Formats: sequence, structure tokens, C-alpha cells
Amino acid sequence: MKKYIYITLMSALVFGFATVYAQEPVWDGNKVVLISEKLKNGVFAYYPSDAKELEKQGRPVATSGGFIIGQKGVLIIDTMLNQRLNRQVQALVRKETGKPIIFAVNTSFHGDHSYGNMYLPKSAAIIQHSFTKEYIDEHFQKDTEFMIQNFGTGRGIEEIVPRTGDILVPKGGKITLDLGDKAVDILDFGFAQTGGDLFVWEPGAKVLWTGNPIITVKPSLPWLLEGHLIETLRTLETVYAFLPNDARIVPGHGSVMGREDIKWHIDYLAAVKDKVQAAIDDGLSLEETVKRVKMPEFRGYALFDWVHPGLNVPAAYRDLSGS
Ligand SMILES: [Zn+2]
Repeated sequence: MKKYIYITLMSALVFGFATVYAQEPVWDGNKVVLISEKLKNGVFAYYPSDAKELEKQGRPVATSGGFIIGQKGVLIIDTMLNQRLNRQVQALVRKETGKPIIFAVNTSFHGDHSYGNMYLPKSAAIIQHSFTKEYIDEHFQKDTEFMIQNFGTGRGIEEIVPRTGDILVPKGGKITLDLGDKAVDILDFGFAQTGGDLFVWEPGAKVLWTGNPIITVKPSLPWLLEGHLIETLRTLETVYAFLPNDARIVPGHGSVMGREDIKWHIDYLAAVKDKVQAAIDDGLSLEETVKRVKMPEFRGYALFDWVHPGLNVPAAYRDLSGS
């Protein structure tokens, strides 16, 4: 299972970033500037200062997250790629409160969401999915090599030392963090990109942090780096059904969006599933299916030519053909 994941990550690297971007990282961890947005008293999103501009153009945005300030202390959602960005997060927290950081949650094992754990105070408890901890325990070295290849040398990745979860959320599980005046739910809604995907729900403010399973608004698309199109579709439908109409969503790589913005991602995955099923029914091979299922109606994302033919159509083909 884990070997398989690593192989698919490497093939994504070989067929994806490397060909599309050559030596250019999709965003530069030495340049990103994070800003925060207050969503309700004590509830903040943070995202790159150029997020809204890039989203409009369908271009990739660096990592987003947030923090929640309760009577007892602060919860940070995602700890960023490197020391530079983690420092920015802690500075955004310090602008709002002097309370201690008592929790930090990683929405996945991906380095841009978890490498910054080591820069948090020792007193902060790290919350991860049990699969995320397992993955980091077994693959940290290779994971950082992969990240350096994609995000560049000299971006602070070389010095990262893993700091894994103190509190683990089991498969399909849910925990509630008591911040005093606020209770925050950490949920596993099912496989959504890595198998260790955690969503953070603050019911008072009706805000959901999703991590990578929702990249950002249309025209961005899911990255099925490890396959599982059918499960991912089911999970996103579950998330959509869970949310009240007026919920706000902080995606993994963009600014704050609404519940209806998730529909684009669900509609896209459902269309991939239908079209790939039709191609399988017609007896097409994977290669022929990739050629046929072009779906220009979902174009617009700068990474379309990598994620759609390179990841998502093959993921659907493998799921639906059982190969
Ligand atoms: Zn990410």
C-alpha cells in the first residue's frame, strides 16, 4: 500500500511537474506572503496575499490554513512548508492574541501542510490522522527529497525534522478539541487525497478547513495523486451534505469560499467517472481513454494538462476497470 503510494508520487513527479514546469516550482516558499482574514471572533483563515488574483486566473496558489483562538489557547490549522512561512503564521496569531498555541492539526502528511510542526512551541499538541503519522514515520526521507525536487533547494526543506502527531485520529474517526469557549471538530470524512485527510469544523462560525481535497474555487481541480477517484467523489459528496448552506470553506490552496463552490469539484469527478465508464464499456485501453476523455468544459486550471490526463482519468480507469 505505502510502496504503491510512493511509486505514484514519483510517477506524478516524472510525468507531471518535471515535464510541465522543468525547474520552476509552482510557487516559491521563499516569496509567499501570508495574510489573515477574520471570519468571526477568534476564527481566522490565512492564505497567500496573491491568492484571489491567482484564483481568478486559474493559477496555483500556495498553502492556506487558519487559526482559532479560544479561552484556553490557540489551535493552528496547517503549519506550512518551512520556517519562514511558519514564522509568518505565528506572527499572524500574535497580532490577535497573547494566548499560547496549544494545538496544531495537519490536514495531511504533505510537507506544505506539516513540515512547520517542528517550529511550534513544545507545549503545542500536534494532531494528525493515524495514517499520516505512519506515512511520515516510514517515508520522511523520500518525502523531503520529492518536495525538494518540486519546490526547489534552499526553500528551507533541507532542515526539516519530522514532528508527528501527539493525538491521532483513527480511520473514519472524529475528535473534538476543547478550547474553552469553543469546541472544534477534527473529522475524517473518508479517503479524499492521501487516506489521512482531516477536515476541521468550527460549528460556531460554520467554517470548514479542507486541506488539499478542495484546492480552491473553479477552475482548480482535485489532484488524485494516489488515485481513488470513486472514494474521493463519495467523500466530497459527504462533505457537501454535511455543510449548512451558509458555511464558509477555507480550502487547501486559496481564499475563503462558499459551500456551492464545492459543487464544481463534485461535478467534475462525477463527469470523469461517467465518461471513463463509457470508454471502458467501449473496450478502450487506458491510453485510448485518456485520449478520448478530454473534457474541455472543465478547462481553465493552469495545471489541467497535468492533473486531468496524468492523474484523474487514470485514477478513474483503475477504479472502474478494477485494474
Ligand atoms: Zn497542499
